[in-house]
Amino acid sequence: MSFTVKQTDIPLWHYSCPDCGFGSAETGYHAQEHMIYCEICLEDSRQVKLRRWPADADSGAPPAGGSGIR
Ligand SMILES: [Zn+2]
Repeated sequence: MSFTVKQTDIPLWHYSCPDCGFGSAETGYHAQEHMIYCEICLEDSRQVKLRRWPADADSGAPPAGGSGIR
């Protein structure tokens, strides 16, 4: 028996879709580790990788530089 897994250990991410602009700033919730593609774009049969950055970065905007995931 193990109770070592805490829900708070799940890494959460800010996210923003470079294509449609959908992101955590609009929804108000964070993405989980498995959330890679934009849900909105997926409904449109397009696989657009979200730009993601750690939720604990205490920033509502993606890191500057533009070298993120495309
Ligand atoms: Zn999108």
